[in-house]
Amino acid sequence: MNIYEEVKDAKTIGISGHIRPDGDCVGSCMGLYLYLKKVCPAAAIQVMIERPADVFSCIRGIEEISYDFKPITEKFDVYIALDSEKSRIGEAEKFFDQAEKRINIDHHISNAGGSGDVNYVVPTASSASELVYDVIGDKSAIDADIAKALYIGIIHDTGVFQYSNTSPKTMKIAAELISYGFDFPELIDKTFYEKTYVQNQILGRALLESILFMDGKCIVSMIDKKTMAFYNADSHDLEGIVSQLRCTKGVVCAIFMYQTDTLEYKVSLRSNGAVDVAKVASFFGGGGHVRAAGVTMQGTFYDIVNNLSAQIEKQLK
Ligand code: AMP
Ligand code: MN
Ligand code: MN
Repeated sequence: MNIYEEVKDAKTIGISGHIRPDGDCVGSCMGLYLYLKKVCPAAAIQVMIERPADVFSCIRGIEEISYDFKPITEKFDVYIALDSEKSRIGEAEKFFDQAEKRINIDHHISNAGGSGDVNYVVPTASSASELVYDVIGDKSAIDADIAKALYIGIIHDTGVFQYSNTSPKTMKIAAELISYGFDFPELIDKTFYEKTYVQNQILGRALLESILFMDGKCIVSMIDKKTMAFYNADSHDLEGIVSQLRCTKGVVCAIFMYQTDTLEYKVSLRSNGAVDVAKVASFFGGGGHVRAAGVTMQGTFYDIVNNLSAQIEKQLK
């Protein structure tokens, strides 16, 4: 796909990623936004996403996003959904649906067919940001700001080139991107590794209260609403907890969940490859990748652990 060819006649372009935006969602949306602003100067372009974590304020142009989902037009000429199928772009879904032309760029295996009129879904890609780099036909239009946004997306979805979704192609693109000269060590430190004191405290608490089960093959931990309120924490403060749980020796599948309502939890799943957690999450209406997936589930903590365990156990047998 050449994204310029797909959108060049559009007067209005909308861009969205998934709810609870992560680094790849923000990086791919902003990278594409900055690029399209450059190559389609006459078009009105709007990014509609939820407010991301403060660490992403280092991306150029992010101050132009208003997070209130008030569209510049009810009917966009083109709407682009990134890093997600259309059903997970939240309040923007209706604008995607109403658009003249819908484009979906994603790397989730649970979105195999794509949900646009034109789809570029590559489950083997590390990130949507890698795919945005792919669809930029005229690479000479890339500048340091675009490169930085896409690099942020790639480092977040690959755990700084650590996860198995990192391919030689990912590394080549990253090499190309750092040649634009932004301060990448600082970017990795500030957006990926650095935690606030409170974030580290919650991480500590989640590790302390974690429970091993299935002969130590699985681990689970949970943070309830009361605890979040105690630390004055929001969902951004819980990023990374599930990956840390997964690093427990002997564990093949880690579950972390936080309470979103009386009987509702946002569940994150991570695996070392022995369990396909996309399959587990999809069974309950969520999705993701083989080694990283998510889903929102109803019930008590114990109901949810029981239901997940049954699906995980099926695969481990
Ligand atoms: P998380 O645990 O929320 O960090 O998500 C892990 C991976 O699964 C990310 O690639 C998410 O985009 C994806 N994911 C999380 N929740 C869902 C969902 N409900 N549907 C599809 N994909 C999801
Ligand atoms: Mn994402
Ligand atoms: Mn992604």
